[in-house]
Amino acid sequence: MRLKVLGCSGGIGPGLRTTAMLADHDVLVDAGTGVGDLAIAELACIDHVFLTHAHLDHVCCLPLLADAVGRQRAQPLMVHALAETIEALRRHLFNGQLWPDFTRLPRPGSPYLQLHEIRTGERVEIAGRGFTAIPAAHTVPAVGYWIDSGAASLVFSGDTGPNPALWEAVNAIANLRHLLIETAFCDRDCALALAARHLCPRLLRHELGMLKRPVQIHVTHLKPADRESLIREIEEAASEYRPQVLAHGQVLQF
Ligand SMILES: [Zn+2]
Ligand SMILES: [Zn+2]
Repeated sequence: MRLKVLGCSGGIGPGLRTTAMLADHDVLVDAGTGVGDLAIAELACIDHVFLTHAHLDHVCCLPLLADAVGRQRAQPLMVHALAETIEALRRHLFNGQLWPDFTRLPRPGSPYLQLHEIRTGERVEIAGRGFTAIPAAHTVPAVGYWIDSGAASLVFSGDTGPNPALWEAVNAIANLRHLLIETAFCDRDCALALAARHLCPRLLRHELGMLKRPVQIHVTHLKPADRESLIREIEEAASEYRPQVLAHGQVLQF
């Protein structure tokens, strides 16, 4: 499998895109602003979207994606998410006010998108590839994802604060190759990170102390205003784990 990073920033700014990743050509993980860089033909190939949670930086391009290619697709776009995330999308986004209800339009029997509830720990198989929701600890109900190609696995933490349950899941994956983990705030904003249920470099180091497998670590969701100092702090705090800062456009094979 290949996972292309369409966006991995914790905010907007020149050249920055918020969280969205394309697995092979047909599965999207989160639908942040990075989706907007795909060609129409590429957008039309997306059959599934796995959402980590309802926050705007992870879902803002979903309504626009449905609108852009709904007419040229034969099947509805299948959106997989927690029940609480689906409820938030129905109530606040596809509500006929902020955006048309494409779960019922253009016709209730053949809508542009369908919302499919998943539970933490549940694995969805798509053409031999496994997508399993794993625990995240955020201010709203959230998950990360374990993506298994069969040959190797990649884990994406999603937005999360300190989260022992993540490590239980991660340490049980025998073929783990890549771990994408967030670090949104600088250490000076540690109290804010804890309140917003994100990580800072000091908390990242503590979390990585629970990792029991050799794995390539990629850090994501850095807040743009503090990017330079965040990179420095991440390198200092977690140097023994040789973390790389995830880059927009990067492709991970597994
Ligand atoms: Zn969030
Ligand atoms: Zn976020």
